[in-house]
Amino acid sequence: SSYIERIEAYNFKSFRKKKTIYFSRGLNVISGPNGSGKSNIGDMLLFVLGTKSIHSVRADKLSDLISKDSGNTCYVIVTFKNDEGKSLEISRRLVIEDEPKSYYYVNGTKARQSDVEDALSAFGINFGTYSFVLQGDINDFVGMSGVERRKLIERIAGTEQFDVELEKARND
Ligand code: ATP
Ligand code: MG
Repeated sequence: SSYIERIEAYNFKSFRKKKTIYFSRGLNVISGPNGSGKSNIGDMLLFVLGTKSIHSVRADKLSDLISKDSGNTCYVIVTFKNDEGKSLEISRRLVIEDEPKSYYYVNGTKARQSDVEDALSAFGINFGTYSFVLQGDINDFVGMSGVERRKLIERIAGTEQFDVELEKARND
């Protein structure tokens, strides 16, 4: 299995200049007072691992991701490690010029978002499924109807796809 070894961030949200956060294999816990930046660490991961929506990193616009009054660029580098000791480095850099531009890198080489997805899955990491439990998700889960909850469990288990195919076959 693979795990996140470290996250390096530069001018990302409340993390001014360069900050490196180290993790170890297994369960890691981040604790701290309200507003101290715990969720921003999760946002770093969502940012790099190709979030489709800016709102999932709790920002209205891309420029909100750059530390206030810290220029026009930020980046995040996530380093994964696997059991064989191999590393995979995925990074994303944001530059705000006339319009915001963002660049992905796999092991330091410029890449497309689809290359990032390929590199991750080749490394045994699949972010297509439900890998993130965000703030509020547990409340949502508790408040769900039985059917909604079953749908979510089916999505996590990966059996939702069969329902889609079954439905298609029925309509053919
Ligand atoms: P809680 O315990 O309430 O969930 P938290 O530790 O998860 O708190 P975060 O939501 O990660 O805290 O951090 C919020 C802080 O990040 C706020 O103080 C906010 O001002 C700061 N912040 C967000 N974006 C930026 C930015 N672009 N520049 C500077 N600070 C920022
Ligand atoms: Mg939080």
